[in-house]
Order: sequence, then structure tokens, then C-alpha cells
Amino acid sequence: MNFAERMSRLGTETAFEVLARAKQLESRGRRIVHLEIGEPDFRTPDHIVAAAIQALQDGWHHYTPSAGIPALREAIAEHLSRTRGISVSPDQVVVTPGAKPIIFFTLLALIQKNDEVIFPNPGFPIYESMIRFAGGTPVAAPLREELEFRMDVEEVIKLATPRTRMIILNSPNNPTGSALDQRDLQKLAAAFRGKNVFFFSDEIYSQITYDCDALSIGSLPGMQAQTIILDGFSKTYAMTGWRLGYGLLPSPELASQITRLMINSNSCTAAFTQLAGVAALTGDHSPVRQMVETFRVRRDRVVKLLNEIPGVSCRLPRGAFYVFPNVKSFSRKSSELANLLLHEAGVAALSGTAFGRYGEGYLRLSYATSMELLEEGIGKIAEALGKLKQGTLEPQT
Ligand code: PLP
Repeated sequence: MNFAERMSRLGTETAFEVLARAKQLESRGRRIVHLEIGEPDFRTPDHIVAAAIQALQDGWHHYTPSAGIPALREAIAEHLSRTRGISVSPDQVVVTPGAKPIIFFTLLALIQKNDEVIFPNPGFPIYESMIRFAGGTPVAAPLREELEFRMDVEEVIKLATPRTRMIILNSPNNPTGSALDQRDLQKLAAAFRGKNVFFFSDEIYSQITYDCDALSIGSLPGMQAQTIILDGFSKTYAMTGWRLGYGLLPSPELASQITRLMINSNSCTAAFTQLAGVAALTGDHSPVRQMVETFRVRRDRVVKLLNEIPGVSCRLPRGAFYVFPNVKSFSRKSSELANLLLHEAGVAALSGTAFGRYGEGYLRLSYATSMELLEEGIGKIAEALGKLKQGTLEPQT
């Protein structure tokens, strides 16, 4: 069967593929510890669930405006204004089913042939996929361990050419848990302020930070006019399955273009889900604080356990719920190691290269699962890597 040429430029997200393989093994009776999935293991807080049930009982069964119901756009505008210290109008906000479509739509709306887009590598794989799909040229900005996996802003400035149309930032970062600091953002702003370059700031983990506050380049003087902010409900409120996210666009004109893409694809986001979103933003945030506190305890334990494994070293992440341990001492491809861990140890983890070529030498583990499972999973990893070091275990290719 012949597919349109553009399909050959579309990538994928390995996490979903590894999950499928792990489920297949489970269906054959294997016990698998899941450390691959990027979603909180908590239930959505009760008051948010109650708001959705109420919405359904109240008759929210139909289409809504494509950009989102006014109450939610207003709540998002208020939330963004307060948390980013900027002035946001609801007509700059577009609500989407999950935050991912904001990546899809924004790149389709702004990027065309010959446009270069600088993106973090390792990074969320959908960036590179969508840059290519939109016809642009991806320019990888390596995240190096020496810089605590922060983007090297001096390097980003050097990578920029007259064709650079967009720079993607993701802080806190998936997969490394790194976070950009104020100096990084100030340098980027100084270099690109007033230029014909957009920042696409993926802030989906903005409320999951530990020893720092999440900072947005859009908060710096003059930068809101050239920054698209992506955020959403999936991670903060444990709502991955609800599909609810949003974009803050620098202008109502760009918001209208993104809305046209919504009209052409989804029509609108589910009505009761949007009502749940209003409850999430305006309601009690203590469940979110408790969840983040639980992540912090797990993070500390996981980093400690990983660093105890001979040949593994792991930095302390500052946000999100992932660790990115260095496994270079095993002199194997990360993908081979991930495969070995799945098949030999029964632990589903992701290869660093699932996030781009600069992820070689690392694995990504999610600590969004119970302490018991984390301890079991890391124990099994330690055992398998120990056997590998002694030469009593051969990875499958
Ligand atoms: N951006 C990053 C960095 C992510 O890690 C994810 C989800 O894994 C998303 C965006 C997409 O979030 P959503 O599930 O709301 O579409």
C-alpha cells in the first residue's frame, strides 16, 4: 500500500511501543515492573471527578466552542497570568484534547520548508517528529550531563541561523528531569528578543518541581509576544486519560489559526472534561502538593538505589518524575540494555535514544509508580546489570 510521502517523516513515541511489548509479555504470564510510563500513578483528585460527573448530569453532552468553553479559557488565562506573572487574555488560549495537539498544531501553523527549529535532544520525541512532518529542519541542541542536562544556551545561540524560526524549550525536561535557570532564560531572551524567532515553551511539568520553581521564558520582559506556552492537566492533576491540555498563543490571530486546526481535526475537546478542568484549576490544590511530595520521596530513594549499582550513576532531577541514569560503563547500546531489562529482568524501561541520539548511554525510568514496585524494579535491574558485568548474561538484540 502506498502512503503519502509525509508519513515517512512522521516519528513515534517509543514509550507506547514498549508498553505494548510489555503488555504482550504480561499476557503470556510474565511479571513486568513498569518503569516506562510517563504518567502519575495517582487517581485524579475526587473533586475533579465529581465536577465531571456533575457536568454529565447537568447535560454537558454536546459540542463546545472549538477553542474551549469560555469558563475554562478564563480559568486558564487567570492561572497563567498568576503563575507566569504575565497578562493573559482568554482569546489567546486554545484548549485541546491533551497538550500534545498544541505541538502538532503550532508546528503545522508556523513551520514550513527551509525553516529550522532548534529542539532539546534528548527530548520529547514528538518535537522532532512534528518538525519533520511540518517540513522543517530539526536542529538538535544536545542536553549534556556535564551541564546537568540543561540546554547549553551558548550553543543554542551558535546553532541559530537566519533560517531559525523556532526554539523549543522544555523545562522541567522529559526525559532528564533538568530545569533551566533564570540565567539561561535571560541569555536566550537577550539573544532573540525582537527577532523573528518563536520560543515554544513546553511547560507540562511546571507544577512538578522539587528544589526550584519552574521558570518560563514568556515571563521575561517583552518575551510573551514571541512565546507559545504549552501546559495541561495530564501530569499535574493525574489526568492523562482525560485528554485535556492547552496552549497560550502570543496573539489572538495565532490562536485563531490553531482553532482552525482544531475545527479541522477534533471539532472540540470533550465538554465534561473541560468542566473538570475548571474544577482542577480553581479547586483545592492539596492533592497536587501531596503527589509532588510523594514523587520527591521516591526520587530521592530511586537516585540513591541507582547510584548503588556498580557501573550506574544518576543525577538528582529537579522536576518531572523521571530519572536518566548513565549506563555508559556497560559499553552496550542503550536500546540493547532496555531490551535486556525487559526480557531478562522483567523491567520495562526506555532507552535514552528513544528521546534522540544524544540519549545514547542512558536509560529513562519513570518513578511515577509505588515505592514497592520501584524497589523491586531497581533490584531486578541491579541483578541483571551485575550478571552482565560478570559476563553471565548476554543481551538480546
Ligand atoms: N510534553 C511533554 C514534555 C510530555 O512529556 C508530554 C507527555 O508525556 C506531553 C507534552 C503531552 O501531554 P498530554 O498527555 O497532555 O498530551
